[in-house]
Order: sequence, then C-alpha cells, then structure tokens
Amino acid sequence: MTDTKNIRRSICEIGRILFDRELTDSSGGNISIREGDKVYISPRRTGPDKQWKLEEDDIIVTDMCKVPILGEKDAISRESATHYYIYHNFSDVRSVIHGHPIFIMSFGAAHMDLPSISEGTRGILGEQPITNVPEVLPGSIEQAEEVVKNFQKRRNIDSEAPLICSLPYHGTFAAGGNINDAFLFTEVANNCAKILVYRQTMFSGDPKADFSIHRRFSKEEIASIEESKDVCETGFVYRDAFGKDTIYDNGKVDTNQNLIAKITEEVIKKIK
Ligand SMILES: [Zn+2]
Repeated sequence: MTDTKNIRRSICEIGRILFDRELTDSSGGNISIREGDKVYISPRRTGPDKQWKLEEDDIIVTDMCKVPILGEKDAISRESATHYYIYHNFSDVRSVIHGHPIFIMSFGAAHMDLPSISEGTRGILGEQPITNVPEVLPGSIEQAEEVVKNFQKRRNIDSEAPLICSLPYHGTFAAGGNINDAFLFTEVANNCAKILVYRQTMFSGDPKADFSIHRRFSKEEIASIEESKDVCETGFVYRDAFGKDTIYDNGKVDTNQNLIAKITEEVIKKIK
C-alpha cells in the first residue's frame, strides 16, 4: 500500500533542503512525485508565502491529467505543466524538481552550456554538458515542450542519461527515478557550476593555474567503483577478530556463518 503521508512529507523535507542550500529561492521552485497514476505536487507561492516551510496538507494530489484528488486545481504550482509533460514522456521518471540554483543560472544567463567536470557530476550525470532550452515564458506549455525536447536529446545520446536542463535567466528542471535523484542531479550540477565560477574568479589570471582534466574516466570505470574490492590478497595470514591466526580466503567463506559458528564455539566453551 502506498504511504501517502511519507510521499507528502518527503516533498516538504526536500523542499526545505532545496531552499536551505540555495538551490531555489523565495521567488519560486516546485517539486512533484509520481506514484502510480497519481501526482503529488507542491502548491503555488511556496516560496513567497511560505519560505518553503511546507506542511504535508499543503501538497496537492492529482491524477495524470492534473484533475485534483486532494486540494484545489487553482492552488497547483504555476510550473505544473512541465512536470506533467515530463511524466507523460518519460515512464521511468518518478520525481521532478524545478529550482533556481544560482550557479547553474549564471551559465544560463550567458547562454553557455555547463560542462560536466567534477568527479561527482561526471559520475552521476555523465559526460554530457547541461544545456539550455530557448528562452520561453515561465510556466507555459512552450516551456513544457522545450524541456521535454531537451531531455529527449539527452536520451538520444545516452538512453540512460540522467535528466537535467537549464532555463536561461530562470532555473533548472531535473527529473529522476525518485525524489532523491532529482535533488542529487540539481545539487551536483550546481556544485560543478560553483567550482567553475570560483576557479575562474580565483585563478583565471594565475599562470600556474592548469584548468585541463588530466584523466577522463569512462562510464565503465566509474561503474566499477560499485564493485566491492578486496583489501587483502588470498593467502594473506592475519589475526582475526577472535585473536586466532587465519588465512584470508578471498571472501569465499560466508563471513556471517563463520562468525556465528565461532561465537557459538566460544559460548559452548564457556558453558563447559
Ligand atoms: Zn521558476
């Protein structure tokens, strides 16, 4: 059964973090979660009227065509069309976040792509730069169509590409498989932009500064980080957690079972 209380709470909590980390401001931003055939979405004027202190009851629940189930249609976020268009076009998306992250917006305000350079950005968002949609009326259907087009371009290049784009002089849209991913995409991209802005400000005139990337890691290399790595070679002799000399066996023995057997052995010894 869907825990609707948790879904609404997570929108309130992520909204608060988004605001606290300057990934949006009091002028706007909005968050939604899709669960089955329902969309949970933040209300309009969350920034100006509430300073992002949302309550669970503020979150509006609708069907996929924005027909309200809980709450008033007129209270739904002004930017909602883009959220629904994304859900209609990307079946894997379960959450959309629109923010006003200041450092990404600095790139948008110059109509510049944001290159993916930091380890976090390359590891999470991949090599594709974050690109701008054309300047469109905020909240319009045109905006919804342009964001979807931008996301489709990303997916045409890489069918698994994380979805994020920049809206010049306005903000960003990020979409992920859950609300944490949509938040993560926004934050790592903004941090990448922040590094580039600081680097330029602090070192652009310094002849010692080297702005090149010395080693580009492939997607496969980054994925390999997930594999658990042995820190000892097979045959390595060591004293185990019970003070006995042991030979490392490349993790072939089920450690839990091994520990349980040893603990049982110790307990039996004591009882005897
Ligand atoms: Zn906005």
